[in-house]
Amino acid sequence: MTRNDYSGYSLVIGRFQPLHNGHMEVLRKCAEESEHLIVGIGSAQSSHDPDNPFTAGERYMMISESLKAEGITEFSIVPVEDLNRYSVWVAHVVSMVPPFKRVYTNNPMTRRLFEEAGYEVRRSPMYNRSVYSGTEVRRRIAAGEEWRPLVPEAVAEVIDAIDGVGRIKDITGVSVGAPL
Ligand code: ATP
Ligand code: MG
Repeated sequence: MTRNDYSGYSLVIGRFQPLHNGHMEVLRKCAEESEHLIVGIGSAQSSHDPDNPFTAGERYMMISESLKAEGITEFSIVPVEDLNRYSVWVAHVVSMVPPFKRVYTNNPMTRRLFEEAGYEVRRSPMYNRSVYSGTEVRRRIAAGEEWRPLVPEAVAEVIDAIDGVGRIKDITGVSVGAPL
């Protein structure tokens, strides 16, 4: 048996605030084309903020439950905190996740940084981006609009279990209540 050179290991990195159906398409495509899928949870230190409402642990559960529901079993999920220094960010990510050879991203800065570091970067199409975006899911939750069709069922279950709707309404100032 030859030693594993991790050539079939691929990375998808995002904030997943929350994981939505657009992300899920990318994860599915990456899992199909790879032996092992690595999901990096970016801005892992952030939570309880209008743009980053969910903790790394909550996002971990959203991702792991959604992948399992799809029958995907060969995956690792790794929270990655921000470094706020683009020049060394790839080295930071590499130090936190299993070895990999390929990266899937549509983000131009992420693409540039990994390409400069010598990784193969693949783009995936943007799926229905006008609705499948974290910003749109958070906006709908805060506005009391229908958000469940935009996310995998397992994500809605996690959000319900942690009262994510109440949290987003509180931190975006939508809830009625006494100010501090
Ligand atoms: P936010 O609106 O909070 O920035 P987002 O939807 O852009 O959320 P991110 O976690 O910022 O999601 O992005 C992670 C990765 O997922 C990026 O490479 C991004 O291009 C990709 N992505 C986001 N939405 C889609 C989509 N609808 N189809 C395909 N890829 C997507
Ligand atoms: Mg984004």
